[in-house]
Amino acid sequence: YLDPRVNDTVEPASVRWVSNQNTRWGSCTPSTGQIRLSDRMIGFPDWVVDHVLAHELCHLVEGHHNRRFHELLAGFPNAERAEGFLTGFQWAVSGEADDTRNDPDDNPADQSS
Ligand SMILES: [Zn+2]
Repeated sequence: YLDPRVNDTVEPASVRWVSNQNTRWGSCTPSTGQIRLSDRMIGFPDWVVDHVLAHELCHLVEGHHNRRFHELLAGFPNAERAEGFLTGFQWAVSGEADDTRNDPDDNPADQSS
């Protein structure tokens, strides 16, 4: 589903669940190829977890949420649906849904990842 620039060149060093990410769904370290997924997503539908994983894979090629990044991710299905699921889950557990956070790894304290 992903752009050949991601599909043909990116091989993550590791993908693992972590329990210390409460404000982000995923994160990655491009220099080491490590991807971390919040264990809050364990049990979520595969297409939701896959959306976050695809997002982080694209970050191994492009670190910023810029036009190039969105081009890399554009072919992945169900993006809007998955974002809606994540926003709805957040609303259900916290009573608030911040529509300005449109990326699964946006962190109010760290906008760089
Ligand atoms: Zn991101």
